Amino acid sequence: MQVFKFGGASVKDAAGVKNVCEIIRAHSRPENVIVISAMGKVTNALEQITDAILGNAANIDLLISQLKEQHFQIAQELFPSAKPVLDAIESLIAEIYWVAEEAQLKNYDYEYDQIVSIGELLSTRIVAAYLNASGIPCEWIDARDLIRTDDSFREGQVDWRITEAQIQTAYNKIRTQKPGFLILTQGFIASTSDNNSITLGREGSDYSASIIAYCLNASEVVIWKDVPGVLNADPRIFPQAELLHEISYYDAIEMTYYGATVIHPKTIKPLQNKNIPLRVKSFLNPLEAGTLIGNTELRNEKPTFIRKPEQVLVSISPRDFSFIIEENISEIFREIAKRRIKVNLMQNSALNFSLCLNNEKGKIDAFRESLNDRYRVRYNEACELLTIRNYTDELTGSHTSGKNILLEQKSRNTIQLVLQN
Ligand code: ASP
Repeated sequence: MQVFKFGGASVKDAAGVKNVCEIIRAHSRPENVIVISAMGKVTNALEQITDAILGNAANIDLLISQLKEQHFQIAQELFPSAKPVLDAIESLIAEIYWVAEEAQLKNYDYEYDQIVSIGELLSTRIVAAYLNASGIPCEWIDARDLIRTDDSFREGQVDWRITEAQIQTAYNKIRTQKPGFLILTQGFIASTSDNNSITLGREGSDYSASIIAYCLNASEVVIWKDVPGVLNADPRIFPQAELLHEISYYDAIEMTYYGATVIHPKTIKPLQNKNIPLRVKSFLNPLEAGTLIGNTELRNEKPTFIRKPEQVLVSISPRDFSFIIEENISEIFREIAKRRIKVNLMQNSALNFSLCLNNEKGKIDAFRESLNDRYRVRYNEACELLTIRNYTDELTGSHTSGKNILLEQKSRNTIQLVLQN
């Protein structure tokens, strides 16, 4: 069996849902599992709704009704008699209001997950109904009954033992009770041992597909995207970007680690561990081969450009002019780990420790505050981290000209630069 994953861009409107259905008809096997994200930019809209609810803003009702309208319109365009689907949408929207009524300001991440997880439930209800109406029998399954995590809201850590048992039981049950039915489920969402909804981190649907593939020993995962496959650069930023036809798990994990957004960074490990190939294909040109990621000795030798925007460069030095030693570094990292701040690069000298971090404003402010007594903390916002694998000095020069290089780090193959425009 294979696991297919379709992201938000593929189901952003009724035409998208129809296209996904045609891809499944032409390319999927009946025993496959299909993983689907929230439609278009719905997760962003739900984040806004969460902020409005927790901030007690005046536009809560407006935002929720826009979200409902967006899903109603898609459903009405897909179904001549949309009543059952509209009812399903209506009751999921009602869940947002329930959460809003009980929302407590004290745990933002918890409330976020209860609300934001609705996006995937909405999209999969619509797609499942459309597949069934189009003669492709499919069973909708709640991913919260499949994937179990701990209580790290917004970044649930998978409990593999329980998850594996739940996924295998659910899969085998459908296979015996409803042979020939596809299984359709949500990406991104899971549940905790207390049955609370939880999410796996933004763009986490790829990871959901990989978890399911691991637990079912799938023969392949296919991630359907709006790009032809994995490219050596983001085509929106580097117009000469080229398709990589085949890359190793190693290269893929390195690229996603440095910030390539084509697949979620956690996706590769479970697949590598079971030697399950991953194909990244275009839902716009499904007949093209895309990129194959797998167990190959092949090393990508093409220069690869990865740009990570919205970075902050923080420089930390002890106030009493003492060296930066192990004790300081572990103190600094305790504060980072406590706040789950993402570190993308670090460098130290005798008196200074520099960190390039994702600029999540609230977290960074609290981190700086926590060090303020013993350290002088300086920072530069509005930075980007540019990573070039297989770099040459000429390439580096041409991609940094006109920019201020705040920090540079090199190995034989890879150069990383913190830049400010
Ligand atoms: N819908 C979620 C997001 O936009 C998860 C995903 O699409 O992978 O982050």
